[in-house]
Amino acid sequence: EKITIAIDGYSSTGKSTLAKQIAKTLGYAYVDTGAMYRAVTLFAMQNGFIDEVELYKEELIKNLSKIQLRFQFNPDLGFAEMFLNDVNVEKQIRSLEVSNFVSQVAEVSEVRAMLVKQQQEMGKEKGVVMDGRDIGTVVFPDAELKIFMNARPDVRAQRRFDELSEKGQLVSYDRVLENVLQRDYIDTHREDSPLVKAEDAIEIDNSELSREEQFKKVLELVNN
Ligand code: C5P
Repeated sequence: EKITIAIDGYSSTGKSTLAKQIAKTLGYAYVDTGAMYRAVTLFAMQNGFIDEVELYKEELIKNLSKIQLRFQFNPDLGFAEMFLNDVNVEKQIRSLEVSNFVSQVAEVSEVRAMLVKQQQEMGKEKGVVMDGRDIGTVVFPDAELKIFMNARPDVRAQRRFDELSEKGQLVSYDRVLENVLQRDYIDTHREDSPLVKAEDAIEIDNSELSREEQFKKVLELVNN
């Protein structure tokens, strides 16, 4: 019997790595909802609705219907890449520039409404692992298994820093930590669907856990 698995939690807690691994093992579909918020942010940047300091919210809202998002499975990578209006933006949406603005874009209720609807559509058949901030609370409140991931901010910043450095992005650890903390703050304080653990979610703090240990833990939960 296939189920819906919701994985929520703070930024850079390794949600997507875990979600991908679980989906692959179970033969489930994986949906990275953060990629969708990131793609909307990139759209806003490309169209001048975001400049150095500001998000022009009303402009973005007026143009939301021009955004077409699509995940396309890449067999070489083993996961789906994000396409924004038919352009592969998988690399661009992971940049620090997008990361710096994405939580502000995610505060816009109209953006959330649009994306939540698309996510519910993508997960309407069971056998889905979806990761994000509001999956267990808003998108699939009836999900059979809800995981809430957490880790110490310094651990998360280090992981993110390593990831960006590996990709050749020049960033300082301090700026990454600042971004992680800033996103935590905005994500937990926004009015619309703030990041909170669903009551029936199982919390995993993985500051001291290996990927393998987390994977085993979740797999056990799936099988019980
Ligand atoms: O998961 P990721 O770090 O890529 O998500 C980027 C940002 O998108 C988060 O910091 C959050 O502000 C927003 N987000 C959200 N709701 C989701 C997924 C992501 O608000 N379901």
